[in-house]
Amino acid sequence: MSAPPNPITPPLPVLPQHPEPHVSPRTSANPDWYTQGVPHIWLPYSQMKTAPAPLAAQSTQNARITLTDGRELVDGVAAWWTACHGYNHPHIRAAVAAQLATMPHVMFGGMVHEPALRLASRLCAMLPGDLDRVFFTDSGSVAVEVAMKMAIQYRLNTGEPKRTKMLAFKGGYHGDTLATMAVCDPEEGMHHLYGDVLANHIIAPLPQDEASEAAFFQLLDDHAHELTAILTEPLVQGAGGMLFHTPAVLRTLREAADRYGLLLILDEIFTGFGRTGTMFACEQAGIVPDIITLSKALTGGTMALAATIARPHVYDAFLSDNPEHALMHGPTFMANALACASANASLDLFETEPRLEQVAAIEAHLKKNLERCRTLPGVKDVRVLGAIGVVELEKIDNPDALRQRFIAENVWIRPFRSIVYLTPAFTIPEDDLTALTDAIYRVLSTDK
Ligand SMILES: *Cc1c(COP(=O)(O)O)cnc(C)c1O
Repeated sequence: MSAPPNPITPPLPVLPQHPEPHVSPRTSANPDWYTQGVPHIWLPYSQMKTAPAPLAAQSTQNARITLTDGRELVDGVAAWWTACHGYNHPHIRAAVAAQLATMPHVMFGGMVHEPALRLASRLCAMLPGDLDRVFFTDSGSVAVEVAMKMAIQYRLNTGEPKRTKMLAFKGGYHGDTLATMAVCDPEEGMHHLYGDVLANHIIAPLPQDEASEAAFFQLLDDHAHELTAILTEPLVQGAGGMLFHTPAVLRTLREAADRYGLLLILDEIFTGFGRTGTMFACEQAGIVPDIITLSKALTGGTMALAATIARPHVYDAFLSDNPEHALMHGPTFMANALACASANASLDLFETEPRLEQVAAIEAHLKKNLERCRTLPGVKDVRVLGAIGVVELEKIDNPDALRQRFIAENVWIRPFRSIVYLTPAFTIPEDDLTALTDAIYRVLSTDK
């Protein structure tokens, strides 16, 4: 298994090995904090021994990142899919500044505040169906853990204590914590490495055709008695390789959940807030999950925040005179006021600026400009949905080296597994989008 656990972040940058002085083509431009700090930092998903040196970011603006040496990169990733309004949107900055002046944070245990309650009501109003009870956390992985705890305790509270397993899917990604790793794709999640430390759930192929559908329903016949929920990312399995499936697959999952008395958990941490062309991906299937998780673009890429939202029948199972029936969870920074203020400002922008139209325009641009990559040698597939553009190759031998070639083209694109992908800010100017798609075409057309 050579792939990293979360392939959105292939091995990073070779770091200077402390205490040797860092040598790079632009050493003179490296500020003190960089040379002094890099030997003390442990980067994500990186073989620290061999990764190339990380870039030193100085500032951001809309779809661009300026480095300390003065280079400006057009960003094709939008900070791991979060910065949907571009970086430094003045409306979000102003909302955070105003909140900072009155109350940056207060504990959420036994106390509430306006930014969190306004955000909860707004999320419930915009989500489909009767998803109407919001539990705030501070990262996507934890939001999924909370959804899993809700689904498990739902069974304990309703007298079915044996039904505690999740049915999740190959190609899925739901986070990096130990509980969520157990519901990720077994290979990408490196289940073999962690062995029996990980909980034992059922991971199946998505029911995408007649054969896999038959196998899926057979599996449910055999295992429904030990299952509590079906868990998937709707329409796009992001970190698993930007794999698309149709709305019909989601309708099959909804139907199966109803037939076998299972909860349906949709992880919209990547797909939520317009990325696939609608505010939420599940809208395209016309289905409502029992629990939904949101994070990535929730604050427009400004602050860490996540939410797990449940329907009344889930919530009601926790209402009881028995203290053990309460949901025992509460992150210290739950519903942080600055984060909720930036999320409210982000929702304002979805109301006042034409985000979904911009996504449609990006989709058209990506379809037109990435399609020509299809005939390049080594290209296996080109696919686009909303503001997600993917060029899948037969294989990528060295994602680090490929990324360096994109940096040389002044674009920030991070290939992983066998794909090169774009998930730009919805506000990206046409010229910058063209710079990204041209760079992909140029780099993939020339020999490595
Ligand atoms: C990124 C992601 C997560 C994990 O979120 P973190 O904030 O990185 O913990 C979970 N599910 C999906 C679908 C994601 O894309």
